[in-house]
Amino acid sequence: MTDDYFSPLHRIDPAKVAVSPSWVVDLGLLEDNLKILKDVQERAGCKILLALKGFATWSTFPLVAKYLSGATASSPHEAQLAREELGKEVHSYAPAYSDSDLDAALKFSDHIVFNSLPQWQRYKSKVKGKVSCGLRINPEHREVEVALYDPCAPRSRLGVRGEEIANADLDGIEGLHFHTLCELGSDALERTLAVVERNFKMLLEKVKWVNFGGGHHITRPGYDRDRLIRLIKHVRDTYNVDVYLEPGEAIAIRTGNLVTTVLDIIDNDGKIAILDCSATAHMPDVLEMPYRPEIIGGAKPGEKKYNYLLGGLTCLAGDVLGEYSFDEPLEVGDRLSILDMSHYTIVKTSNFNGVQLPAITLIDQDGNYKTVKEFPYETFKDRLS
Ligand SMILES: *Cc1c(COP(=O)(O)O)cnc(C)c1O
Repeated sequence: MTDDYFSPLHRIDPAKVAVSPSWVVDLGLLEDNLKILKDVQERAGCKILLALKGFATWSTFPLVAKYLSGATASSPHEAQLAREELGKEVHSYAPAYSDSDLDAALKFSDHIVFNSLPQWQRYKSKVKGKVSCGLRINPEHREVEVALYDPCAPRSRLGVRGEEIANADLDGIEGLHFHTLCELGSDALERTLAVVERNFKMLLEKVKWVNFGGGHHITRPGYDRDRLIRLIKHVRDTYNVDVYLEPGEAIAIRTGNLVTTVLDIIDNDGKIAILDCSATAHMPDVLEMPYRPEIIGGAKPGEKKYNYLLGGLTCLAGDVLGEYSFDEPLEVGDRLSILDMSHYTIVKTSNFNGVQLPAITLIDQDGNYKTVKEFPYETFKDRLS
């Protein structure tokens, strides 16, 4: 990814952030994404939902609600949050529901998507007439390179395969759901849809709605939105269905940074800076995916004069962000901005090592910085007993 890609995030000024570490979400940048998504909704005649799994910073939901049609939840707690803070449509999906999960999903959702035929059989009498029910399918068409994020990888537990559906009792199923993409373009959707149309035609002809899942990188520069709109219209017109998309990333990419402070600088075969944040506790994708996040002013190792390994605050030996180089030496107390940290971070933090969770700061459309949440000791204690 080029510097250009991240350039909107350079306007976030770490000196204006009251608390370190802090997530800093720029509502103006969020609104830029939401406007693009609203335009897609209008031109394609579809509904776009925020996938809370990727971004659930609910103090931004009044803004989100101005543009999108609702939210999609992957657990009862997310469904409740969507109902309480976002309103509008709430859609639920989970790989499996317990009896109590299902009760909660029923209470808070407009749509419930089941992951398997046994789950549908188990709950259909309970849900019939109360919500619109859908079935998640597994098109068994692979587009995602990293297996960790590929719902169509061999032995996937996500969705019903074509061969299982042939003789199934689907009376009462009103929707079809697939989610096969991750950070991909509309070309990947086009190939997926071709497979879905070929292998699930009977179901498409029966249902009232089709949910294309998430993973559509709609707000990314270069994403072919005209093709997306064409594909949505094709499905709408051919099968006479409503079409939903439920991206997470596309709502929150390029909307925020993690502001952190250098706490110490040591040497072990080269300089190491220890930060007041943590890869494992705050940005686990850095280690899971893995990838090296971009930092303002930080170049690849050796590109600039002063080189550092940047490490986190937990005792995990591998809690490092990576190697970076800077024009000037880092000093204790310096603030750094880790770029593009709104999505799959704030929702994924843990209290490992009891490290301080980053505060949440919002920048409003007039450029005012406001810390909207801090996480005191009680937050840590409340999660244990
Ligand atoms: C993760 C997920 C999404 C959101 O995916 P993004 O990559 O964040 O757009 C939507 N639907 C389902 C079922 C998911 O698992």
